[in-house]
Amino acid sequence: MTDRHSVTKIHQPDPHVRRILERAELEGIELIRFLYADHGGVIRGKAASRSRLAERLGTGIGHTVAMMAMNMLDQLQEVEQLGPVGEVRLVPDPSTFVPLPYAPGAAAMLSDLRLPDGSPWAACPRTFLKDAVAALDDLDYTLVAAFEPEFTLGRRLPDPSGGPDRLVPLDDSLCYAGLGFDTAHDYTIKLVRALETQGLHVEHYHPELGPGQQELSVRHAPALRAADNHVLYRETVRGVALRMAMWASLAPKPLADQAGNGAHLHLSLWQDSRNLFAGDSDVRGWFIGGLLAHLPALTALTCGSVNSFRRLAPRMWSSAYAVYGPDNREAAVRICSALGESGEPNLELKPSDSSANPYLSLGAVIHAGLDGIRRKLDPGDPVTVDPDTDPGRFPRLPSSLGEALDALEADEVLMAALGPLRARAYLAVKRSEAAAFQGHDAAFETFHHLRTF
Ligand code: GLU
Ligand code: MG
Repeated sequence: MTDRHSVTKIHQPDPHVRRILERAELEGIELIRFLYADHGGVIRGKAASRSRLAERLGTGIGHTVAMMAMNMLDQLQEVEQLGPVGEVRLVPDPSTFVPLPYAPGAAAMLSDLRLPDGSPWAACPRTFLKDAVAALDDLDYTLVAAFEPEFTLGRRLPDPSGGPDRLVPLDDSLCYAGLGFDTAHDYTIKLVRALETQGLHVEHYHPELGPGQQELSVRHAPALRAADNHVLYRETVRGVALRMAMWASLAPKPLADQAGNGAHLHLSLWQDSRNLFAGDSDVRGWFIGGLLAHLPALTALTCGSVNSFRRLAPRMWSSAYAVYGPDNREAAVRICSALGESGEPNLELKPSDSSANPYLSLGAVIHAGLDGIRRKLDPGDPVTVDPDTDPGRFPRLPSSLGEALDALEADEVLMAALGPLRARAYLAVKRSEAAAFQGHDAAFETFHHLRTF
């Protein structure tokens, strides 16, 4: 049945629209996935058909508000204003249309959740990041970022004793070892091609520490694009594996006794084509001061799942202490030295993984850094040793999602930035996950995270 409201507001003059429609036809695209990331960190969406795409680009697709109260176990939480009554629209950003090489006939577009009149919705994560970028813009700053993800490649097999499915890693090759390049070769070449075709330029790749672990990083981009890229990256890592009858997981700790999968967040701040993180700049120090001051709360957003906190252990190079230091790979904030003469230094936030919602994560990082700049927060002395050699001296990161959520609720800056609806929903969704996993063993937790991320 024709929905009278769905045929209005076509952005016909937008050059993107004509290009999208032409490309969809030329490439035989039948379904266009309008994707978003929810409060559970899950990437979800609805797909428009090509025949209805022209209209849907303008009106979006209707969606229940309740999905922003859904946790990563598909358990709906009770959150005021996010119940069975109410409607938003999944409205795609026309600049993000991209055919999906691992799903012939399908394309994706990154989408905002908007109110039916087209205005921004207070619980839209992509809007949260856009607002953070606008706050930077007010000060003539541009933030450039890249997620540096790791993932585990293998096969998903039933547990012989009837427990939840397990991820059986592809190989037992050693870290950076030549053999690991070969065991994962067919997959990685397909992955690189699939990413490049989508405009995600691959920086480098290596087999990482532990069975089946891979690290493949893509080039940095302005903040919104970097978060969009990470959504496409997560989808591609898993989509390519599925088509090869494999299973790839970006879960923080898919194998309990092995190194975790991080998605370290690399950041640089620019003004008038100058990298403000170059040299020993005050701005860099204040930005770090802001990150450290908000770090306990920030981890509730950058390390978004119960499984995240198994990863944040000392001596795993994932960071476990709220300290910073130059090229210190056990510090939560590492000042990365520049590569070569033309290279640019950047900051690396280590407590960050792919179970986070990248829009909320990066947006919160921006707010924390800006707070540091505004208040000229002194970051203290850099730490140039492994902080675990003198553990009593340094503050630890939260040890559980619950602890991080308590810190978030007490953090006035981040709570104000999230706004009441988003903050309420995020806390409810994440607290429900903490409670749900508490009653189960590690195998249950591992299964649900490796299935979802
Ligand atoms: N796997 C480590 C983590 O969980 C990172 C290792 C590294 O690349 O430095 O963050
Ligand atoms: Mg690594």
